Amino acid sequence: NCRRCKMKIPRQADLACGNWGVIGDQAGKATFVEVCSEKGANLLDGAVKAGVLKTGAANPKGVEIRGKVENAMLKLGDKWRARYFEDLGEGKDRLKKIMDETSRCIKCYACIENCPICYCVECSTKKSYLVTPGQVPPPFMFHLIRYAHISDSCINCGQCEENCAMDIPNALFMHALQTDLQEMFGYTPGVDMELPVLALVEEQTERKRLADTGSDQIFNIFE
Ligand code: SF4
Ligand code: SF4
Ligand code: SF4
Repeated sequence: NCRRCKMKIPRQADLACGNWGVIGDQAGKATFVEVCSEKGANLLDGAVKAGVLKTGAANPKGVEIRGKVENAMLKLGDKWRARYFEDLGEGKDRLKKIMDETSRCIKCYACIENCPICYCVECSTKKSYLVTPGQVPPPFMFHLIRYAHISDSCINCGQCEENCAMDIPNALFMHALQTDLQEMFGYTPGVDMELPVLALVEEQTERKRLADTGSDQIFNIFE
């Protein structure tokens, strides 16, 4: 997952810290901090005032090196994506590969339980009219439901693959779909603050409705 990641410096966070660009006598002793929001700036100021942190201006040469390292890593990310995604093939070939690999699923639910995007009160994969209960391996619908619900918002964290009891490359499949959707619709999960492509309603309103009613649908398109 890290190989395919292109979030090398998380500037959507308040502070982005790391060691790229820390050079000279500071190498190994200091941390490069990018201040990305007012909240981040206030936090840093507060820490300096409290005497727990010392800051200094970044070395211009270090800034240049940091930029170069970041660019090189982004290119590497593209390279790894190309290699992994090309191996999956296209269209029906890709579908067949995904169906073959997921056919050894034992329906342990670890992929759903560990996914930060799968937050539903009740999961559609547990509905008997969608996924026949007690069947192992489960019908492909089990996996299709996840692809349909979260392929636009997968952040490639890798948890669905890391925790899969059957070593199914779930994150690779989802990330490949997510990348295609991002190309089509321009939505970057984990960065864009507006609703993802597949969300039809206001998330906060939906969360409240789920909590108030105990409903198990992420969104209700029938009202
Ligand atoms: S890689 Fe994507 S689908 Fe898998 S657990 Fe992370 S966010 Fe969920
Ligand atoms: S209903 Fe869909 S999005 Fe919700 S937990 Fe289940 S698979 Fe994940
Ligand atoms: S973690 Fe793996 S074995 Fe478990 S339900 Fe998900 S795909 Fe199937």
